[in-house]
Amino acid sequence: MTSNRTALVVGGGIGGLAAAISLQQAGFHVKVVEKVSVLREVGAGITLWGNAQKALRHLGLGEHLEEISMVGSGAVWTNQGEQISNITPADANKWLGGAVAGFHRAELHAMLIEKAGGNEVLETGRHCIGFEQDERGVAAQFSEGGMLRADVLVGADGIQSIIRQQLFGKEPLRYAGYTAWRGTVTFPHDQLDGLWGEYWGRGTRFGMVPLTNNRVYWFVTKNAPEGQDDGPFGRKQEVLEYAREYPAYSRALIEATPEHMILRNDIHDRKPLQRWSVGRVTLLGDAAHATTPNLGQGACQAIEDAVVLGRVLKGTVDVSAALREYEKIRIQRANSVIVDSRRIGAVGQWENSAACWLRNQIFRRMPRRILLRQIAKYAAYEV
Ligand SMILES: Cc1cc2nc3c(=O)[nH]c(=O)nc-3n(C[C@H](O)[C@H](O)[C@H](O)COP(=O)(O)OP(=O)(O)OC[C@H]3O[C@@H](n4cnc5c(N)ncnc54)[C@H](O)[C@@H]3O)c2cc1C
Repeated sequence: MTSNRTALVVGGGIGGLAAAISLQQAGFHVKVVEKVSVLREVGAGITLWGNAQKALRHLGLGEHLEEISMVGSGAVWTNQGEQISNITPADANKWLGGAVAGFHRAELHAMLIEKAGGNEVLETGRHCIGFEQDERGVAAQFSEGGMLRADVLVGADGIQSIIRQQLFGKEPLRYAGYTAWRGTVTFPHDQLDGLWGEYWGRGTRFGMVPLTNNRVYWFVTKNAPEGQDDGPFGRKQEVLEYAREYPAYSRALIEATPEHMILRNDIHDRKPLQRWSVGRVTLLGDAAHATTPNLGQGACQAIEDAVVLGRVLKGTVDVSAALREYEKIRIQRANSVIVDSRRIGAVGQWENSAACWLRNQIFRRMPRRILLRQIAKYAAYEV
């Protein structure tokens, strides 16, 4: 169905771009406004589970996915490099609807921008500061002046969402108690094959994910007070210090990463909301359900949101009712990611040696089927 219905998406991240594609497929003329002129986080990798890969296929991106991604591993190891649990390719196919895949964020982003229609659709350097709505439509306002009107407004403006704040009031971020450092680097995969996955230490974790073209995405987490700066010897030295308890290849990866390419983020989430929509305005992605990254589901859920949003709005004349339907379908699942992810992160960041030993024993002895069922709850879902 073609129409002159219009949608405005605030935020050109993974969620906002996926929403733009989905809304176009539902027959909307879409504009995405993005406050920055140069997109951040180009230096990091990201993993997408089967649920997000399927959702991207629904958006017509199937053929590109394999070109820019690489099959990863769900293995967990001790800090000494002993395997705690593993997901074999057969397990992944049987239980999870396929293996987790590693992407370079910049390439995932580029793929979404191209599919959404590039600069025809995405306007960078436009900072939304709020909106007004009535029964005929919604108008967004911008810090540099001007307004944009549309039939529906999607706040996909991330964890610091201004749209969420206007809809539901200001609330503080919740600090998870740890900081994460991330990098991507070119490194021979044959030196790391069979070793991919996440390593659990004491108050820290290390992980490495294969990306295409012999690149590796690595991360380190460490319990730390909120809001700290880099140490006196610089970011790389600090993260190398935290990686000391892990096998030598962890430090080789960090050492090979240019210092300016190492990202540092305090890990936050937000309290689950009971509503996402008011009238013609709704939330999507981190704006709706910012989660800690422990389940690797933040972006995956944003992509699921996008598919459902397009589906409910397709052909409908009652935008508000469709947004309530979207929220009804999505909110419980996305909120449970916040809760489960926070919980698993807390266990992963335990510091006490006896508790860590016990944790590792429990995970090692846990029947495979139970472990896989936990992951399948999110990863095996088809939106
Ligand atoms: C360390 C770490 C690792 C992670 N790893 C994974 C992983 O492996 N797998 C996974 O699925 N998820 C992961 N996540 C989560 C994932 O990054 C997010 O859930 C996802 O990027 C959210 O996408 P989004 O589009 O909703 O928000 P964002 O990516 O935050 O995008 C929001 C966009 O809106 C723009 N914006 C903000 N305010 C305005 C405004 N007022 N006007 C206009 N534009 C605005 C911002 O500039 C930004 O570009 C990780 C997160 C972290 C912190």
